[in-house]
Amino acid sequence: MARLRRARERGARVPREQPLISRDLLPRAARADGTPPAAPVIAVDHVSKVYELGQIRVQALRDVTLRVYVGDMVAIMGSSGSGKSTLMNILGCLDIPTSGRYLIDGVDVSQMDEDDLADLRNRKIGFVFQSFNLVARTSALMNVELPLAYAGLRGAQRRQRAERALRSVGMGHRLEHQPSELSGGQQQRVAVARAIVTNPALILADEPTGNLDSRSTEEVLRIFAHLNEEGRTVVLITHEPDVAEQSKRVIRLSDGEVVADERTLGVNDSPPVLHLQKSAHKRLAGPVEAQA
Ligand code: ADP
Ligand code: MG
Repeated sequence: MARLRRARERGARVPREQPLISRDLLPRAARADGTPPAAPVIAVDHVSKVYELGQIRVQALRDVTLRVYVGDMVAIMGSSGSGKSTLMNILGCLDIPTSGRYLIDGVDVSQMDEDDLADLRNRKIGFVFQSFNLVARTSALMNVELPLAYAGLRGAQRRQRAERALRSVGMGHRLEHQPSELSGGQQQRVAVARAIVTNPALILADEPTGNLDSRSTEEVLRIFAHLNEEGRTVVLITHEPDVAEQSKRVIRLSDGEVVADERTLGVNDSPPVLHLQKSAHKRLAGPVEAQA
């Protein structure tokens, strides 16, 4: 990661490499032609979250307000217990605020019933977790097919799309491997394939590189960067400053409050990792497939 940083400090820019993610996985009209979208994809308005545990009351989020527009790549940082996962669960419609409002694509989540929410999660959001959350004793291919099964897709089509997603993250040669037969980095790439197979416009990742070595971290960040480059909005939680540096904007949480919100690149700029000079970063210059 130090090399990543040094190359970036030099302001190195390189031509686009071959995309890792095939174009046909793109959300329709993902990249606006310069005109800002009418509504942010994420609108959090004065959101607080309180957990009640018997006598104990934990205020995990305090009056959080933020907007994220289509195409942004945002890192959320903060020490352990600062409310990052709580915020992420709300953004992903896995949990609801105690007070305040959350709108996704302009729609107030509190007005949706459980079925609509499940449908929205499946269609619009791809989740990636620190611990991969793959189904054990189940092939990479089957793991990636799962969200498509929920979406009601039939066998052949499911398999074809799952294969394509796995190939796009450099895992085309491990279709039949089970999670226990894969390295951490490979498991996370399978998890990313599972997150993108439904073609979601929004990727939410909670410490996706927390269990990875530096090489796998770079690979996963590069995949996120390509997903973002192709128009998907990426929000990732991280502890690691090196990882946060690969985003365009960093939001800091402390004790449930947003204490900083800094932008280093424009919403429609290429993510930092794609600015790196090839010579400074040969190992990642080739397709991911070749490194596995
Ligand atoms: P982070 O992801 O930044 O480590 P969390 O969002 O997981 O922080 O937690 C924020 C605070 O809320 C912590 O004090 C944590 O103990 C508490 N908390 C998180 N989830 C729950 C829960 N389900 N029930 C009660 N308290 C919780
Ligand atoms: Mg957490």
